[in-house]
Amino acid sequence: MQGDVQVFRAKRIITMNPGQPFATHVAVLGGKILAVGGLEEMQALGAYRLDERFTESVLLPGFVEGHCHLFEGGIWDDPYIGYFDRRGPDGAVSPGLKSIAAVVAHLRAAPHAADATSISAWGFDPIYLPGRRMKAADLDAVSDSLPVVITHASGHIMNVNSVALRMIGIDRDTDLDGLLRDADGEPTGELLGFELLGLVRDRVVASGLSRKLDVRGLRRFGQLALRVGVTTATDLVSDMADDTMAVYKAATAAEDFPIRIAPALAARFYGIEEGLARLGALKAEATDRLFIGTVKLHVDGSIQGFTARLRWPGYHNGAPNGLWYIAPNELGGIIEAYHRAGATLHMHTNGDEATELTVEMLARAIAAHPRPDHRHTLQHCQMPDQALYRRIAALGLCCNIFANHIYYWGEAHIAETMGLSRAQRMDACGTVLRNNIPLAIHSDAPITPLDPLFTAWCAVMRETSTGRVLGPDERISVEQALYAITTGAAYTLKLDHLVGSIEVGKFADFAVLGLDPLAMDPAGLKDVPVLGTIRGGAFFPA
Ligand SMILES: [Zn+2]
Repeated sequence: MQGDVQVFRAKRIITMNPGQPFATHVAVLGGKILAVGGLEEMQALGAYRLDERFTESVLLPGFVEGHCHLFEGGIWDDPYIGYFDRRGPDGAVSPGLKSIAAVVAHLRAAPHAADATSISAWGFDPIYLPGRRMKAADLDAVSDSLPVVITHASGHIMNVNSVALRMIGIDRDTDLDGLLRDADGEPTGELLGFELLGLVRDRVVASGLSRKLDVRGLRRFGQLALRVGVTTATDLVSDMADDTMAVYKAATAAEDFPIRIAPALAARFYGIEEGLARLGALKAEATDRLFIGTVKLHVDGSIQGFTARLRWPGYHNGAPNGLWYIAPNELGGIIEAYHRAGATLHMHTNGDEATELTVEMLARAIAAHPRPDHRHTLQHCQMPDQALYRRIAALGLCCNIFANHIYYWGEAHIAETMGLSRAQRMDACGTVLRNNIPLAIHSDAPITPLDPLFTAWCAVMRETSTGRVLGPDERISVEQALYAITTGAAYTLKLDHLVGSIEVGKFADFAVLGLDPLAMDPAGLKDVPVLGTIRGGAFFPA
């Protein structure tokens, strides 16, 4: 064999290739996998360099995060104000804040630059906070001269102070969907949905989901990724503008950047024809580390923010139904256009009404324009019942399930949004697999922390933050969960021929683990040490 062949010997290699599930050696040439097996297969290669650094470690395919947002790296420039403790890219833990007063005190104490023109924070999660909703007056106590903008954990809701309300031009006469008001009709400072969030972006500050990427933030995301075993990550809402593409290219061209990235063009930034043209033009710019071809649609909001669209009987606590982010009469046209053009659609649907409508529109598009192997994927897909899953299966759709919700918001879903009966069927990975639907599971980072082994633990254990098991019959095995964070996720991105398993010809991307997840109590899955990653044969220690 010509060239510099490198062989990694490990304690065990879990390949996620059902045709050869386990090995001890993997050979790499030019960043790709040359051979997998034992010593015998390696000796057949002729000369090679043996790397024995991992003889006590377990190698898996590098994890594929099929739904995250790369601004998770940059967002740590702003204070984290969520309910749960959260580890940042530098490894330090920001403690969870358990009341509105604690959030306000934290923001008052947080340093900001003398020349700052706004104050932003992220991760606010009011559903567990006792008492009332946050008001503009709370944030006026943080600043009465600068605009203060805090983004909720869902990413779909903001609270702002009075200065920001004035800058946006909102007062009691404003007539916009998603503007919360108090009993006297005054805006409370809580803003729901992309229309209002867009006004904040345009007139105050681009924070939250509209934050722009920069190379420094992307590199920080890379640091976070290698500590949790991720070697391929999506950026599932991207404007794919020239400046964004320049950031992707600069970051991924660096040899010391540890991940491959797969941004999805967010359809809402473009008219249909314009979006199709943009996607077509950008395909020529794809590389081995920058994959292009998926399109993201947002059909509704978030369940815990009460902006998801639910079927009967609606929200458990009686809250009014949520928001359509795409008008129902426009959804079919958008889906059909991208489907016909050959794109892979990734459709955010949280509530079951949104999923049902999306499935109906996909059924029409697929019937009118049959296209084998489309791999259209329902993202989050948290509430379908058995019949809706059977339709999903019949249409050949994939599901990327938001398994982390069970831990982070399971208790809130029981108490507030769905009630126990429906909460037990949420994020139904068991049903997805029983219907032979291709499965991925995700974190939606920064909505919840990037950590595929934790996500796998959620799908396997289905424990809420209080330790109660929610819907035990929807639990899946460790092996199935590992599949969902590797080959399963790669499949939804049409990248399973390149990444997601350890097979000859694929990229030499591995997660290096300190314990064998298949030889332990599944309850320990989230605590398996990640020692680093290997991308294209190069080791990146955690
Ligand atoms: Zn998302």
